[in-house]
Amino acid sequence: MPAKREFQKTSLPLQFVVVGAGLGGVSASIALSLAGHKVKLLEAAPELGEVGAGIQIPPPSIKILEAMGCLKEVDAVSIHPTDILIHRYDTGEVISKQNLVPYVKDKYDGLYLHIHRAHYHEVLVNRAKELGVEIHLNSRVESVDFDTNSVRTAAGVVHTGDVIVGYDGVRSKTREEITGKAGGAYDTGDLAYRALIPTELLKTVPGLEKYWSHPDIHFWWGPTLHIVMYFLQGGKICNVVGLCPDTLPDDVMREGANHQELIEVTKGWDSDLHKIFNLIDEVGKWRLQDSRELANWVPEKGNVIILGDASHSTLPYLASGASQAVEDAAVLAGLFSKIESKDQIREILTMVESMRKWRSSQVVRGSANCRNIYHLADGEEQEIRDSKLKGKAPQLGCPNRFADPVFQDFLWGYDAFEEIERGWAEYKSGKMPTYDYPNLYEA
Ligand SMILES: Cc1cc2nc3c(=O)[nH]c(=O)nc-3n(C[C@H](O)[C@H](O)[C@H](O)COP(=O)(O)OP(=O)(O)OC[C@H]3O[C@@H](n4cnc5c(N)ncnc54)[C@H](O)[C@@H]3O)c2cc1C
Repeated sequence: MPAKREFQKTSLPLQFVVVGAGLGGVSASIALSLAGHKVKLLEAAPELGEVGAGIQIPPPSIKILEAMGCLKEVDAVSIHPTDILIHRYDTGEVISKQNLVPYVKDKYDGLYLHIHRAHYHEVLVNRAKELGVEIHLNSRVESVDFDTNSVRTAAGVVHTGDVIVGYDGVRSKTREEITGKAGGAYDTGDLAYRALIPTELLKTVPGLEKYWSHPDIHFWWGPTLHIVMYFLQGGKICNVVGLCPDTLPDDVMREGANHQELIEVTKGWDSDLHKIFNLIDEVGKWRLQDSRELANWVPEKGNVIILGDASHSTLPYLASGASQAVEDAAVLAGLFSKIESKDQIREILTMVESMRKWRSSQVVRGSANCRNIYHLADGEEQEIRDSKLKGKAPQLGCPNRFADPVFQDFLWGYDAFEEIERGWAEYKSGKMPTYDYPNLYEA
């Protein structure tokens, strides 16, 4: 029988301190509250919010959002893309297609959504507030005391809990405290251009109907870079992302840019793209960083764990960083809903690490691998890649990773609630549960 997708109430309520109110930290706060625990959520920024543009939500997160009581609200401000279409960069020819509607519902009992990340975050924050999560803004954590399970903020305020959860992003202070090392966020050598365009503007340009008349997600794969385009807010907004080699000065993480730059870096590409780029009013560029697999997410002593981008930040090429953070949140809360005694806290934290590390590491590796696939220059390797796509039924190793039947199952077939039940049963039988998935890579 499939696991019931809900967070059961614990018989042993604990105090959690969650550091960082991004999509991951807020999700964990909701799930832990639903599991009957008390949560203090500490955020460095003076206000809550998310910067950037669109985000894709795959089926495993949908199941969790449903259990968190947020799916209806998220769906109301999302769009359901019909297909993933991969275009050749210069001619625009579609070289690969993966259906999403109705495929994802039929195969994975879920949805695939596109949403503005500010809307996503707002729905989660509203739910956290409704559940009584205690939110502290202007609370930048500067140190962790592993003897007392407490954190100290820049203002000198100390927050103590039974468990500290670091969800403080790719440049995590909590990670630094655990590893004893500064750094841990690595430049990937790529940056992201991100822009939003009112769809009304696309409608004024002849030849762009094929994009705005249908809510698909479009990729253009080309030498050294790729473009992703999809719609948000029921189709009112067009989200454009360009992923290309990093040209930002060393000390700059983010800056504004001109749409002419996008046109320059895609010289000779599909003319539709240039028609679209010409409509961009404002574009920003972000340096993309990721992380290396850490030895541990849980320190040698203390009830502390790091999750989300703090422990496994990834290139966005599989659109799965936030969904990994949300899955972490569900597994953390699900296992802590079953706690029987405080003596089990560290074992449960170790279980969360053991059950989540392999999967999230594959997403980090798989995303980096996508760069090698998407950004091939024209030539023999690109011809081999395209020959595996055009007119072929996807097989293991399919370059469109969303269509590779094995990789797709790994990415979209995950059910955190089944994992929680399996993990707890193995733990009770004296085993430390792990998670892996066969045949993901040829190597
Ligand atoms: C261009 C791009 C596109 C992407 N597209 C997708 C996508 O389509 N789908 C997807 O699933 N993922 C996507 N991602 C990845 C996703 O955005 C991240 O993986 C996700 O937001 C990580 O969430 P998080 O909560 O772990 O960390 P963050 O969102 O980084 O949140 C960390 C929070 O902690 C706070 N903080 C930091 N330090 C401290 C401190 N010392 N004390 C207190 N608070 C602190 C920060 O202010 C922040 O609010 C994309 C990423 C990029 C760059």
